[in-house]
Amino acid sequence: MRRLTFTRGGIVPPDRKGHTRRATLWNAAIPRTSIVPLLQHSGEPAVACVSQTDRVREGMLVGRAASARSANVHAPIPGIVREIRRIDLPDGVSCDAVVIDMDGEFDLLGKRVEAHDWQSYDRKALSRLMAEHGVVDMDGSRLPIPLSYANMNQRRCDTLILNGSESEPYLSGDHRTMVENVSAVLTGLEIVSRITRPSKVVIAVESNKTDAASTLRAAVRASGLGYQVVRLRVRYPQGDERQLVKAVVGREIPSGGNAADVGCMTLGVTTAKAIHEAVVLGIPLIERVVTVAGGAIAEEANVKVRIGTPVGDLIEECGGFKETPMKVVVGGPMTGHTVSDLATPITKGTRAVLALTAGEVRRAPTVPCIQCGRCVSACPMGLSPTRLFKLIEHGDLQRAASEGLHDCTECGACGYICPSRIPLVRRLRRAKTRQRSGRSGE
Ligand code: SF4
Ligand code: SF4
Repeated sequence: MRRLTFTRGGIVPPDRKGHTRRATLWNAAIPRTSIVPLLQHSGEPAVACVSQTDRVREGMLVGRAASARSANVHAPIPGIVREIRRIDLPDGVSCDAVVIDMDGEFDLLGKRVEAHDWQSYDRKALSRLMAEHGVVDMDGSRLPIPLSYANMNQRRCDTLILNGSESEPYLSGDHRTMVENVSAVLTGLEIVSRITRPSKVVIAVESNKTDAASTLRAAVRASGLGYQVVRLRVRYPQGDERQLVKAVVGREIPSGGNAADVGCMTLGVTTAKAIHEAVVLGIPLIERVVTVAGGAIAEEANVKVRIGTPVGDLIEECGGFKETPMKVVVGGPMTGHTVSDLATPITKGTRAVLALTAGEVRRAPTVPCIQCGRCVSACPMGLSPTRLFKLIEHGDLQRAASEGLHDCTECGACGYICPSRIPLVRRLRRAKTRQRSGRSGE
């Protein structure tokens, strides 16, 4: 079978997925205190619907979606609301969070849940169930999922793509989910297919996940669903929506657009599983799979974790640090954010917690650009990161915007490959924010 790939740029860093790609998922301990941010999605924060000292049940609504561009938030544990306080999230945004101290009985944990007959629901009912249960795109945009479908429904979706690439180093949570929860993933995909009515459904898996691809292929065959399973070449950022669509259907998403503009819809593996839980089992989004890895972690693993669990608790769960990390990153090494506060909570969009050693961080002083052009070759968006960087340094944000600054997906490939260790992505990200807010110059 031909291996599909995008046609320009990208890098092949060491994958560092270690033994976690083969190790079975396990459940992390339930946290004694859960810190539940009311902004775990793109758009507006949810509005708290509980107060200090309120008793909450497991899975109860604690934050109500403020609008269609918002998402419901639920209590991951039963207990008492200690406080609602402002916290900083790893991406620098701050929001209110509901802090819950565990107390009382669990309604979901360890209980048998009856499957609903979702096949009898119409599209509206399916979308409503996802919204009620707080499902968001956990693998990329973090958009509330029903909003993605509303955007899609105004155009025709001819191809629905399940994104099984997971090309960022260290991450292997999607890989294990495809192997261990194939039926839930396929049901989530089927539900989305029912809503978006594509002409074809394609499951795209990077070719270094042969066990996941064969598990999916066997399950598709057994179910008679008629979905196509294709292999993707191993290359970062293969999982980016633009690269995925280009590889699978050969279409270029226009500048400033998304997959819907070219008749496609993409769905992440973790999100598909969350859709199954919401629609079929009636379980709100209160848990996710997180890869805990890096040279400083005693026991690397993929664990199912309650939302709101402090990063430090999760690291302890994995045996703690075996050496002092150079930095702790929430998210992947290319797109994640460094955190200094280990009380930072796991959210719906947290794919990984990485504790990296000095050897893994490759920290070195920044030196002047040597005009090697490697960043240009690595950029999957066809940009010139070095040129954009220089324009930003000279305060010419207008020119940088006209040369594609806002097409930058912040994939990190240019910064990774740069021999001069120039912090390209950080500068580009900051410049995008400044340019959007109408401030010129740095
Ligand atoms: S971070 Fe932006 S400029 Fe750098 S390679 Fe990725 S898309 Fe290109
Ligand atoms: S990779 Fe770094 S050194 Fe090479 S051209 Fe780009 S910015 Fe300059």
